[in-house]
Amino acid sequence: MGAPGAGKGTQATALAERYGVPAISTGDIFRFNIKNQTPLGVKVKEIIDAGQYVPDDVTEEIVADRLAEPDCEPGFLLDGFPRTMHQVYFLDRYLADRGQQLDAVVSLHVDPEVLVERLLNRAELEGRADDNPDTIRRRMEVYAGQTAPLLFHYESKGLLVDLEGTGTVDEVRERMFEQLDQHIAQR
Ligand code: ADP
Repeated sequence: MGAPGAGKGTQATALAERYGVPAISTGDIFRFNIKNQTPLGVKVKEIIDAGQYVPDDVTEEIVADRLAEPDCEPGFLLDGFPRTMHQVYFLDRYLADRGQQLDAVVSLHVDPEVLVERLLNRAELEGRADDNPDTIRRRMEVYAGQTAPLLFHYESKGLLVDLEGTGTVDEVRERMFEQLDQHIAQR
């Protein structure tokens, strides 16, 4: 978990590689569908471009379908899900039904000023439609209002690995591996 620009996608890839599990990014799934103009893509494009969250039922169905793929059997890493309390309960129930559970919830903390700088930089490099100043502000607000509170939930379950996300990609990755190893050793 982390605000837009915190480095979720980058670190998710490194983490998934380390554990040999698929990294599942809801944002990537949505962007793929938008690019290919699928019915899902058409449905979510405006919402995402405005910096809002896609409705829970739509997002949850996508995640359920993806987690049912055989490559997720040994484990998986979710990037950008859950983002609302409804999604948290959905995931808890989904995993419980399958006798699975979360091992850890990694949260990346980055100073808001650094976040905006990173996102504007990414806008130049990647041209994502939602990386413009107005939408960035909206996404930050939505994250703070709807997603940041979920950290309390995971903290109370003893799952939270709280990470300082400032520094180079390599530094954050090594910090994350170290903290995660400690977390798993203590469980
Ligand atoms: P970032 O977190 O950097 O904004 P993501 O790629 O994770 O980027 O998400 C991009 C957009 O996709 C979000 O702003 C939101 O509109 C949509 N989205 C992704 N995951 C979810 C989710 N779990 N629930 C609702 N909307 C989502």
